[in-house]
Order: sequence, then structure tokens, then C-alpha cells
Amino acid sequence: MLPMGRKHKYSNGKRRKPCVIVGGVKKYFARTASVNVDDYHFEIKQEVVNELISNAQCEGNELCGVLMGSQVGHNYYRISKISPPCVRSHTRCGCERDAAMANQFIEKDYNQSEHTRFYIGEWHTHPEDNPTPSAIDYSSIKDNYQTASLVVPFLLMIIVGTKSFHISIYDGDKFIKVEPELV
Ligand SMILES: [Zn+2]
Repeated sequence: MLPMGRKHKYSNGKRRKPCVIVGGVKKYFARTASVNVDDYHFEIKQEVVNELISNAQCEGNELCGVLMGSQVGHNYYRISKISPPCVRSHTRCGCERDAAMANQFIEKDYNQSEHTRFYIGEWHTHPEDNPTPSAIDYSSIKDNYQTASLVVPFLLMIIVGTKSFHISIYDGDKFIKVEPELV
């Protein structure tokens, strides 16, 4: 799965405990309910793409942060904003997210947007051209899905490579690659 045997670690043997709380959100869904991700459509704003590219890991250590999204129609979601890097510690092939920093960003943006933008996923960089998720990448998204207060019944994962992005959705059951429409 990983080219050149790279490892993506979020911490030194310590399991990352994601904790994302969206203040004020009372809308929860049953995690046991299955959703059909084929029914979902995604858009991504050009400025988000530009910001992600500006964080691409051409040198230095991995960066990571959160994605904010909005609902723009029935089953239509837009990736509309990213947090600046929220890094607690990082290496060339691993990034542990600073949960407090990320939560602060999520709450602030949620309030500033008058509750129209909410936590929708995670982004991080890889020092490779066309990134492939690591086992840890998959498991940390699964952890977040279980522990975070989510407004939507899925989480997005964006991995920023130096030439392309990997974008997938986790629906509580499986990961599926998505190609959001650029808006
Ligand atoms: Zn990774």
C-alpha cells in the first residue's frame, strides 16, 4: 500500500485520541445507520485547492489540519475551508494533530459562518508525488468518525501530494475515492 515502505505515524507509539467537538451542534446521526455514499456529491473550492497546494510537502515535515464544509443542496457538500496546519509534533512521514488547536478553529469557523460551515474531514501532506493512504491514515479517520461530533454521516480525507491529491470518503463502513467538482 505504501510506496518505498514509508510509515506515517501520528505519534511515537502513543495512539492518537482524536477529539473534535463542534460547539452548539445538536444534530447527530446514528452511527449504525448506513449511508449510500454514491448518493453524495462533492465540490471543492478553488481557494481550498490553492491553500492545500501551498502546504504541499516538497521539503520538511508533514503538515495536518481539518476541513470545513457546507451543505449546498440535497446530498451536495462543498469543501469550503481548511484550517491552517494544526501540528502538535511531526516528522517527515508523520503528523500528530493538535486537537485543541483544531477544535478551536472548528468552533470559531462554525460560529463565524453562522453555523453553515462544519467539520467535514481531515487533511495532511505526504512527501510523495501521488499520495496513498497509510494504514494509520485509515485508522485515524475511523477513530475520528467514531469519536467526533459529526454533523454529516461521513468524513473526508485529503492527502496532499506534491503532484496530486488523494481524496476519499469514509461512511462508517468503507473508504471510497471521490473526485470533487472544482468550484
Ligand atoms: Zn498519511
